[in-house]
Amino acid sequence: MDLVPPASAATTRTVRGACPHDCPDTCALVTTVADGVALKLQGNPDHPHTAGVLCTKVSRYLERNAHPERLLQPLRRCGPKGLGRFEPVSWDEALDDIAARLQRLACINPETIVPYSYAGTMGLVQGESMDRRFFHKLGASLLDRTICSTAGGEALGFTLGGKVGMRVEFFAQARLILIWGSNSIASNLHFWRHAQAARRAGARLVCIDPRKTETADKCDEHVALLPGTDAALALALMHELIVHDWLDHDYIERYTLGWPQLRERALQWPPARAAAVCGVPEQQIVDLARAYGTTRPAAIRLNYGMQRVRGGGNAARAIASLPALTGAWRERAGGLLLSSSGHFPVNRAALQRPDLLAGRRPRTINMVTIGDALHDTDNPIEALVVYNSNPVAVAPDSGKVASGFAREDLFCVVLEQFQTDTADYADYVLPATTQLEHWDIHAAYGHTDVLLNEPALAPRGQARSNTWVFRELARRMGFDEPCFADDDQALCRSAFADGSIDFAQLQAQGFTSLRLPEAPFAEGNFPTPSGRCEFFSERLAALGQDGLPDHVPNYETPGSSANYPLAMISPPARNFLNSSFVNVASLRAIEGEPLLEIHADDAAARGIADGATVRVFNARGEHRCRAAVSRRARPGVVHGLGIWWRKLGLDGTNVNQLTSQRLTDIGRGPTFYDCVVQVERVDVRAAAQAPATAAAIAP
Ligand code: SF4
Repeated sequence: MDLVPPASAATTRTVRGACPHDCPDTCALVTTVADGVALKLQGNPDHPHTAGVLCTKVSRYLERNAHPERLLQPLRRCGPKGLGRFEPVSWDEALDDIAARLQRLACINPETIVPYSYAGTMGLVQGESMDRRFFHKLGASLLDRTICSTAGGEALGFTLGGKVGMRVEFFAQARLILIWGSNSIASNLHFWRHAQAARRAGARLVCIDPRKTETADKCDEHVALLPGTDAALALALMHELIVHDWLDHDYIERYTLGWPQLRERALQWPPARAAAVCGVPEQQIVDLARAYGTTRPAAIRLNYGMQRVRGGGNAARAIASLPALTGAWRERAGGLLLSSSGHFPVNRAALQRPDLLAGRRPRTINMVTIGDALHDTDNPIEALVVYNSNPVAVAPDSGKVASGFAREDLFCVVLEQFQTDTADYADYVLPATTQLEHWDIHAAYGHTDVLLNEPALAPRGQARSNTWVFRELARRMGFDEPCFADDDQALCRSAFADGSIDFAQLQAQGFTSLRLPEAPFAEGNFPTPSGRCEFFSERLAALGQDGLPDHVPNYETPGSSANYPLAMISPPARNFLNSSFVNVASLRAIEGEPLLEIHADDAAARGIADGATVRVFNARGEHRCRAAVSRRARPGVVHGLGIWWRKLGLDGTNVNQLTSQRLTDIGRGPTFYDCVVQVERVDVRAAAQAPATAAAIAP
């Protein structure tokens, strides 16, 4: 988008960068700058995966960068926590006080200090370098960064040996694509381009998702299974592959482990059984199995939505086993892609310097259960440093998270670009740079290119990069190891193993491709201990878990509760990315208000009209939003689109008021989509008289 009139060519330059957001596409950016002002931001047309196209969200990045509410100076709290009342302070005042307070805590017990960060930027430098060095040297608690992908990621590790899979560009040559748990049009746009190319060449696209998404609308078929039943579907597909002998016996024999056991397990899942569990017609499963068993090449684009339930790890293992049964891996357009991040030789030891722990083994806090951890009086958290994350909005059971952040005895520092829900609870808010204002280097999880991000603009106001802040804190605390003096360009250079990427090419064109085979598992070579696709995992069995994938029912099975008869999932609103972009006016205008999609039958049974204000509730809390009576919802399942900032909601809550802190079977991940609720219409006059919460009246 253009913000100011074009300048003359003589003063104009273009700067290459990378989209920092938590999205598989990791687009290459080009920013046109004149006299220190960004004129235009676009996708790099020379980068094959980006092809010059950005999504709606990031094409508004200049609006976000120039946002009138950008935080431009350090702030110190001067009112009750949660109300967002702050006064400006100098950087020196803020950093001196923060360092002194952390020092005092560290002298007694450094584990009372906890970092909290995730993928607010996916950059390796601003996301996981100087910050980790600082906390390692301090001896602070470690953070288990589980909130998105660890169930599926670790499941893939137990099955294929890592987050590895097909190269995304070869989906264009597949003849059948199962888009499983992914609204690609909204959250994996550049994969969708390949899927469309395949379809134009005659491929069949099948969307497997409880919600009838925009992607489901465009596919040839939609399998609207109940949340948390994906493993049952995968096992029934295996059943059909076995009974019809649509198996690649040679591939199974040479390149897999545990076939006799998996065969026995899968034979317990005839389509009729799975149909009852999944809530889909038996014939649909039979037909899907036939298509998968008889079409070559067949590819699966799996995404992380399906693993946010109790059995998410097992489900990912079951689905990841399918291509080895049919030998789909033999062709470059066959196999599966959940994440490509395991292909990147990231040198995390060099970036993060765990050696600075010097033999100490601090406790580990799971970021999913931060709500409980903040209320733990036996092992208290006394200081939290939050960056690249907005836990008050995005962590589950958010009523508990917010009350934990509201503790007056908790010292909380937030590095942020905007005054988020979490920043409202901070003692200090430190203004952070955006992707246009700092250096970074990026791996990806939806393709296999490395991208360099060069700063296009000077930081606005007094905004500073994360690396600068942690360097300054380290200096004030007397950390004198030379690694605390590394500048951001040096960090970029150290991010990948020596010689593994072409850095000269990276600098010259902004991206460089990993050197990988086209069909990495055509002849086995899985990075598992056995070198095979491990249907049976000795490593899982050694942990006391089932060594074979199975259907693990939800904690909160759809239809199992009389009080809370509806299952709820909380997929992202199309114009938001987690809780980013919610404050961009033009994007929020498209989304309108927090919505709950509900099927017409469920709405009618409750007297709920389209657009009515509803109360969604369960034992953990309640959340008010607007009903969207929608064909996107199947009967019995509602969708609370996220992730709205709580203070921008109708009652100062968001959908995470209802989600639980329980963890997945594998990977200690969140179970956002394993949640039952009841919904009722709100009498509008009563709602108007209801008192607003503190967060609701925050500025
Ligand atoms: S599609 Fe994904 S990577 Fe590309 S600009 Fe949008 S958020 Fe960024």
